[in-house]
Amino acid sequence: MPCVPLVAGNWKMNKTVAEAEQLIQALLPRVASLDGVEIAICPPFTALRAMIDSAFGSRVAVFAQNMHEADHGAFTGEISVPMLRDVGVSGVIIGHSERRAYFGETDERLASKLPVALDAGLQPILCVGESESQRLAGETESLLRRQLEAAFANVEPERYADVAIAYEPIWAIGTGRVATLEQAQEACAFARSVLAESSEEAERTRILYGGSVTAENAAELLALPDVDGALVGGASLSAESFAAICAGALL
Ligand code: PEP
Repeated sequence: MPCVPLVAGNWKMNKTVAEAEQLIQALLPRVASLDGVEIAICPPFTALRAMIDSAFGSRVAVFAQNMHEADHGAFTGEISVPMLRDVGVSGVIIGHSERRAYFGETDERLASKLPVALDAGLQPILCVGESESQRLAGETESLLRRQLEAAFANVEPERYADVAIAYEPIWAIGTGRVATLEQAQEACAFARSVLAESSEEAERTRILYGGSVTAENAAELLALPDVDGALVGGASLSAESFAAICAGALL
C-alpha cells in the first residue's frame, strides 16, 4: 500500500525564535497547496512553542529533535515526552547520527525511547545509517540490521507502521555527497526487509532518505520505490529549497 510521503526539516542547533519566525512565515505560503505530502519542521527546543503557534491551522507539523525516555526526574538538560506534548509537538527525531556520535546515544537507549514516543502518540523518526568506513568495509547491511533490530526490540509488530525510519548514511550528512539512487534504494529496501521479518506492517512503514537532499536531487530520490520521504538538514533552512523538496515528493 503506498504511503503518504513525509518530508521533515531538521533545523539542528540553528535559529533564534525571531529567525525561526521569519523562516516559517516564508515557508507556510510556499507549501500551503501541497496536498499529498506530510511536512514537518524540527526546530530547536527554544523555538518549538513559537513554531507551533505559527504553524497552527497549516499543513506543517512541528517535531522535536530529541527526547528523554523518562517522564520527569533528575536529568539535567533533558526534555521529556510529556513536556513535548504539553507544548503541542507531534513527532520527534530519535537517534540522529549527531546524537549518537556526540552525545553517546546507544541502540539500547533508543530502544527505550521508541515505545515511550509511540505510547504518547508522537510520530517518531528513527535514524539509522553507516559511516564511510563501514560502507567501504561492506558492513552497511549488518549495521542497519543491528540498529533496526535493537531499536525495535520493544515495539509491538502491529505498531511498526507508526514509526518512520530515516536512512541517513553518515558520509552524506552535511557533506554535499548525496547517496546514489542505487545506494539509497538498496539500503531503504534492505531496511524494509529487516522490518518485514518481524512485522507485516513493514510495507507501510515510511522509510525516508536523508543526507545532502537538495531541491535539485529530491524528486528522483523521492521517486525511488522504497523511499517514502526525506529528512533534510541544511536545505531545510531555506524556505524556497525546503518547499521545493516537499513539492518533489509529489512528482
Ligand atoms: C540531517 O542532518 O539529518 C541531514 C540529512 O543533513 P543534510 O541534509 O544537511 O545532509
